Amino acid sequence: MVPSKGFISPFAASSVATLGVATAMTPYPKSMIHDIHTHHHPSTPGTAIIQLTPETFSPRPNNFYSVGLHPWDIQDNWRTQMAKLLIMALHPQVLMIGEAGLDKKNGASSIELQMEVFREHIRLSEITSKPLIIHCVKAFDELLTLRRESKATQPWLIHGFRGGIEQWQQLTRSGLLVSIGCHYNADLVKRIPLDQILIESDDNTLLESTYSSISHDLGISIEELEQYVENNAYRLLTCQATR
Ligand SMILES: [Zn+2]
Repeated sequence: MVPSKGFISPFAASSVATLGVATAMTPYPKSMIHDIHTHHHPSTPGTAIIQLTPETFSPRPNNFYSVGLHPWDIQDNWRTQMAKLLIMALHPQVLMIGEAGLDKKNGASSIELQMEVFREHIRLSEITSKPLIIHCVKAFDELLTLRRESKATQPWLIHGFRGGIEQWQQLTRSGLLVSIGCHYNADLVKRIPLDQILIESDDNTLLESTYSSISHDLGISIEELEQYVENNAYRLLTCQATR
């Protein structure tokens, strides 16, 4: 996608040019992240991607982050929030953009406004070359339309995916990836190739039991599962996952 239009672009272009190399490379070390999306700092820094908002952005040493405007939190001043996000997105400890997305069930604003704000996150993801992590509830048609229209090149990861095999296959055909949390479809987990599986704690403290349960379903050890997730996270964050 050529991010030439939209709210972020004019400012982004000059900011990215100014910061150049600092944003092109991240300090992400191989084989450490086994929680791809959480709202809490992990006990071992560097093992999770922590979601921060424009209001809570305060990176701690050796941790990794995503920054975005959740569809539940879109307010009248969203343009101001997006401008703040741009600066945060350029931070070298920020490895992903989001969570952002579409929620027709619990969204605080219209789906049209959510799509407008999400388009800005797509531009941010493309400008910074950082993958997009997505919250999507009952809006997969709109999401796939945006993927098609935007011609985005960065990986898109739908977090906390609870859908079934058919929906996952449809998303996969469009190049989208999913991560799995404590509420997951066991039939689906057995179908996801091990070189694509990603696991998250989101807003709970159930990461260990989620690993335990999924490793049991897959018939592999927790350590093996962790290794797969860490490798897959690395490939995602270095944008090798969909290429
Ligand atoms: Zn979340």
